[in-house]
Amino acid sequence: MDEPYVEAMMRAALAEAKAAGEAGEYPIGAIVALDGEVISRGRSRQRELRSQLAHAELEALQRGGDPLWERHDDAVLFTTVEPCPLCLGAAVMADVPHIVFAHPDPAVQSAQIVERIPYVAAHIETYRGGVLQDESRALFERYEPRMLDWLDDRVVRHRQPPD
Ligand SMILES: [Zn+2]
Repeated sequence: MDEPYVEAMMRAALAEAKAAGEAGEYPIGAIVALDGEVISRGRSRQRELRSQLAHAELEALQRGGDPLWERHDDAVLFTTVEPCPLCLGAAVMADVPHIVFAHPDPAVQSAQIVERIPYVAAHIETYRGGVLQDESRALFERYEPRMLDWLDDRVVRHRQPPD
């Protein structure tokens, strides 16, 4: 994946994130790319659908259709925020081995899941963050500034892991 390609695909995900923000949702977007083209798009729709599970990445993966079904090994999930465990799990179960994200989300600890859980690690070949991170962050500053506390890992967790 060369950089102009990576950035072009991330810009498509950022366009979804902006549309979500304008609609009053969390400004998070995702796309699935195959052979340099966007094959499906998703955005946050929790408020619209009254579902905590209406995440951008999940929607993009569910909309991949035949191209994703046939060629999942070559597909790349681009998302504007590091995937949560739900969406990481969806990528694993969809056999999409490449994940590229913009803004890290240390609160969800998905990087630790990729590192520590062998089943997940065996499915994920690419797990890369920081692509156009500032542009993703700017959308949170504009549409959902409270979420920056989570993205900057300033929120005290309800439960601490066992010693
Ligand atoms: Zn998610």
